[in-house]
Amino acid sequence: MNRPHKVYVKSFGCQMNVYDSHRMADTLVPAGFIETATPQDADLVILNTCHIREKAAEKVYSEIGRIRAVKEEKARNGRPMLIAVAGCVAQAEGAEIMKRARAVDLVVGSQNYHRLPDMVARAQSGERVIDTEFPVEDKFDALAAPAREAIAKRGVTAFVTVQEGCDKFCAFCVVPYTRGAEISRPAAKILAEVERLVEAGVREVTLIGQNVNAYHGAGLDGGDWTLARLLRRLAQVRGLLRLRYTTSHPCDMGEDLIAAHADLAALMPYVHLPAQSGSDRVLAAMNRRHTRADYLKTVERLRQARGDLALSSDFIVGFPGETESDFADTLSLVEEIGFAGAFSFMYSPRPGTPAAEMENQIPAEESNQRLQRLQTAITRVQRTFNARYAGATVQVLLEKPGRLPGQLVGKTPYLQTVQLMAPRNLIGTVHPVVITEIGSNSLFGELADAPALQAMGA
Ligand code: SAM
Ligand code: SF4
Repeated sequence: MNRPHKVYVKSFGCQMNVYDSHRMADTLVPAGFIETATPQDADLVILNTCHIREKAAEKVYSEIGRIRAVKEEKARNGRPMLIAVAGCVAQAEGAEIMKRARAVDLVVGSQNYHRLPDMVARAQSGERVIDTEFPVEDKFDALAAPAREAIAKRGVTAFVTVQEGCDKFCAFCVVPYTRGAEISRPAAKILAEVERLVEAGVREVTLIGQNVNAYHGAGLDGGDWTLARLLRRLAQVRGLLRLRYTTSHPCDMGEDLIAAHADLAALMPYVHLPAQSGSDRVLAAMNRRHTRADYLKTVERLRQARGDLALSSDFIVGFPGETESDFADTLSLVEEIGFAGAFSFMYSPRPGTPAAEMENQIPAEESNQRLQRLQTAITRVQRTFNARYAGATVQVLLEKPGRLPGQLVGKTPYLQTVQLMAPRNLIGTVHPVVITEIGSNSLFGELADAPALQAMGA
């Protein structure tokens, strides 16, 4: 085929999947593929799936149904299209997907994306291809680097995977089974990737990993580096204005990482630190390896290092055996910490995990009712957190155009979205913004340095 092939990648689930989706698209560039924004326009559709909760997997099957209709329509017009399923559902249910969804041409597990060009070539010649083995080679080494144009299109913020997999085995979680054992990328590779991103216009990098603060990769000096050490080196990259990292485990919040929050101006004062529950009994049953007191102590140390540090969290309600009193402990933890935000999930039994076999599974109506109550509490503390910034001047990284003409959207250090009127050429720069209004999903503000910018002709 002479015209370029087009690939449409749809991501489900976590930021790690968003990152993987970009890398899959990058890997297919040498095979003649360019990215497109719609499945209708695509020769290859990749669904990058998430297996963390049951609904997530079901969503994938309904999406395959929708994409199949597009595939059939295109086939009638003589334009063949391939459907690929990638990610954690692919890893966990490989052969089952092939059986259940005949329209799927290839299934690629979460560790095998570097083999995509070869798999796609085989699928193009009519084979139904499946690869969910955990390979011996490192997929990161084999994945293609993103092209400059691709980076520029994706905007001024970027994710970089530094660590993958998990050895923690929380009783409810499939990640150790779908992503495999914990591995950390060498610091040199991460530094090179960050430098390339910054050179192409990226101004904020978020380091990601299932347990990002358990990072222990080969350092530039030949020793083992912690996440704090890595952050200290990355903070020296010229042109990189902001650094973030996610997701952290409370047990891996080392002293050096806490100290980095006190020392590094580029490291944003925001930590996503999943607590899962406020009850010691439930935390023990979850095999979380920390107590409520441990969690509070870690938060206290973080806040001592950086007074304005904001926290967010993940919570699961309706874990097997969770009583009303356990749930009350979760509600009180939310109030006590005063989170800037939090995700809350109804416990979903995952086949193969210890919790799925536990007795005392909580009826769905009860879990659902707890979820509503928890979400009300989270919304309340989030509003209280945001209200503190009414009238304040905060540093905002201007990220992209807003919905209204002349409007830009940016982020505060605390990950709050801010909408404001500002010239487009300020995208990628940080400016002081006076917060004039607190909305339910975002803040509104005005450039505090507008007169100075006007004088400079910006
Ligand atoms: N590694 C992170 C940690 O230790 O918190 C979390 C990774 S997981 C991809 C993201 C979130 O999904 C978890 O924090 C948890 O709240 C939620 N989750 C994981 N398994 C779940 C399950 N079986 N049911 C409901 N929520 C689940
Ligand atoms: Fe899953 Fe627990 Fe590992 Fe997080 S720490 S990925 S919740 S097993």
